[in-house]
Amino acid sequence: MKIQISKQKNENYTIIIGCGRLGANLANTLSDNGEDVLIIDKNKEAFRKLSPAFGGLTLNGDATDLDILLEAQINNATTVIAVTNNDNANILVAQIAREIFHIERVIARLYDPEREYVYHEFGIDTICPAILSVKEIDKILSRPDMLKDRLQEAES
Ligand code: AMP
Repeated sequence: MKIQISKQKNENYTIIIGCGRLGANLANTLSDNGEDVLIIDKNKEAFRKLSPAFGGLTLNGDATDLDILLEAQINNATTVIAVTNNDNANILVAQIAREIFHIERVIARLYDPEREYVYHEFGIDTICPAILSVKEIDKILSRPDMLKDRLQEAES
C-alpha cells in the first residue's frame, strides 16, 4: 500500500512511533491542530486509542523495520517522535531518523534515565517519564498549596 501524504513544501509532517496512551494522545492533539501526522504501531488494535476525529494516517508494522519507515515516507518527515514502550526500539528508530534521514526534530521517550547520554550524543531530544514525575512531585512537595489547587481542579 502506498501512503499518500498531502504534505506541501515547508509544512510539518510528523511521524509518531507507538500508538500507546502517550502516542495516541499526541497524535490526536497534532491532528486537532491541523498537522499532517502518521502513527505507526506493530499492534493493529492499538489504533483504537485514536479519537474518531483523528484525521491522520495509521500504519501497522514494526517501526524498527526500515521498509516500514520508508513506507511512512520518513524522508519527508520534519519530526519523528519515538514513544514505544521499548527503549531499544525508540533509540534505534531515533538514530535512523537522525543519522540516515537527517530529520530536523527527533524526540524519544526513554524509560531508563541512565541511557539519556546515548541519545544526547546523537542530538536526539528525550523525555523521561521517571525524571518528569520526580520533578513534578518535587514541585508539589515544595508548594503544598499547588496540590490543593490541583485537587480542586480535578473535582470541578
Ligand atoms: P504504551 O506502553 O501504552 O505507551 O504503548 C506502547 C506502544 O508501542 C504499544 O501499542 C506497542 O504495540 C507499540 N510498539 C512497541 N514496539 C514497537 C515497534 N517496534 N514498532 C511499532 N510499535 C511498537
